[in-house]
Amino acid sequence: MAKRPAWATKKINDAKKKNPKVVKPFIKRMVSDNGMEIIDKILCPKCDAPIKSLVIDDRFTESQNVGEKVVIRERMVMAELPNTQNIRIKMDGGGDHVMTVCKSCSSGLSQNDLEALYAADLVQFGELEKNGGGSVPWYVFEGKKPKGYKLED
Ligand SMILES: [Zn+2]
Repeated sequence: MAKRPAWATKKINDAKKKNPKVVKPFIKRMVSDNGMEIIDKILCPKCDAPIKSLVIDDRFTESQNVGEKVVIRERMVMAELPNTQNIRIKMDGGGDHVMTVCKSCSSGLSQNDLEALYAADLVQFGELEKNGGGSVPWYVFEGKKPKGYKLED
């Protein structure tokens, strides 16, 4: 398994010095009743407001009479919350980097904010890789720096 390369760790540490509250994992996990580790919610990396969360999907709700009790089974799905806003960060070094933040944070992001958000994503990629989410193609993110952004529809 690929490990987070030194350049990424340096980028993360540099951004963390300026923005310790932003440069951290923002996907929150929990252990379900049957012992599986699952994603519980995704926070706005900048302000920690939930932007995606597990919600009950009514289409799959079942009820069953068991003796005198009614057992209700509900299925949870990960859903985008109404305050979600995707942003497209233009990268110096080529390409765009799409991230999700909350609507209130999405306007007026500074250069410093964009660098912190990009570093937070690198932190999160490392976490996913560590938790068995597969190898991260780190080379794709190397040598790039945010240079402005726009809101996605
Ligand atoms: Zn926010």
